[in-house]
Amino acid sequence: MHPIQMVDLQRQYQRDQSLFDRALAQVIGSTAFINGPAVQEFSKKLASYLDVPYVLPCANGTDALQIALMALDMQPGDEVITVPFTFVATVEVVSLLGGKPVFVDVDPHTFNMDPDKLEAAISSRTKAIIPVHLFGQSSHLEPILAIAAKHGIPVIEDNAQATGSDYVRQDGTAVKAGTLGQIGTTSFYPTKNLGCWGDGGALFTRDEALAARIHTITNHGSTRKYYYDSIGVNSRLDSLQAAVLSVKLDHLDQYNQRRQEAATKYDEQLKGLPGVTLPYRAPYSTHVFHQYTLKVGEGRRDALRTLLEAHKIPSMIYYPVPLHLSAAYRSYGYSEGDFPVSEQLAGEVISLPMHSELDHEQLHYITQTLHGFFALPR
Ligand SMILES: *Cc1c(COP(=O)(O)O)cnc(C)c1O
Repeated sequence: MHPIQMVDLQRQYQRDQSLFDRALAQVIGSTAFINGPAVQEFSKKLASYLDVPYVLPCANGTDALQIALMALDMQPGDEVITVPFTFVATVEVVSLLGGKPVFVDVDPHTFNMDPDKLEAAISSRTKAIIPVHLFGQSSHLEPILAIAAKHGIPVIEDNAQATGSDYVRQDGTAVKAGTLGQIGTTSFYPTKNLGCWGDGGALFTRDEALAARIHTITNHGSTRKYYYDSIGVNSRLDSLQAAVLSVKLDHLDQYNQRRQEAATKYDEQLKGLPGVTLPYRAPYSTHVFHQYTLKVGEGRRDALRTLLEAHKIPSMIYYPVPLHLSAAYRSYGYSEGDFPVSEQLAGEVISLPMHSELDHEQLHYITQTLHGFFALPR
């Protein structure tokens, strides 16, 4: 059996090696490493895939979030509503810009923002709402957008983990996750569903004025070389990463389909394990399984993880500490018990290996090992 990895980028590369090598050789030959044609080409391709008029590339997913807030003219003292059960970047950028992260607890099934708890968190200082599409599934956006619109607050979708997933509206029409709010952001970190071979990120919007502001901010606040209209940053996607991403974007639906097939196999082979909850599939979003995450109750999660490790099966805890209880963010006045769902999830979740190259033999070995664990006397 091929060694099992959380994400197997090597086998993904080998599958289409000649395409990647050719794309990279072309950039190297051109030496157009920054803002070269490969970057424009990829941005256009992604815009077409997402069916959105503006895709603005940048250096990483964290920058994308920060630039989104800057484009909305966020000021020190402003509040930004998001979830405590996410990767730290979502919250970090709010603090870096002098704002206050205001948390809304997540739904215990989807792990995403609970729209029923959103309105109570809104104040006169709320500058933006950032739902995070965790583990490959969109947040319940229509109710979130309705509440946001009622209060005139823009929504930034943190779509780093759900590229390619479809949001299915109440009326049955589908749109790509990340393109419903005023701004969508994503990361091309290598392990994301659409990942490059270094760092990369992007913002998407349907709003021409916002697109122009975002473009200016990523270029040092400059629209004309050496003339500065606003304070910006330096945040670029380089041409080599764009070339890799163009090749991968052609295969994204196929990669996501293979993840979905692996998830279905996991579901079939793991159903009925005592105290184990399989991933929930929301009716309003397709699931592209950035992670395949179980909830393991009865305090057995960590023992399971140890046993998997002994069988050379990697696993990860995304995320072990909800952000409101992390040392860096407690100072905003949060304490234990504030967001009980996030706190409970932190103690129960475990993500199993998930990528486009998982084969049946590996899946069988992983699920049999889990069955072995739950058959053991306690
Ligand atoms: C990966 C990720 C980010 C940050 O992306 P980087 O490219 O690593 O800066 C932000 N939000 C979420 C939810 C992520 O998973």
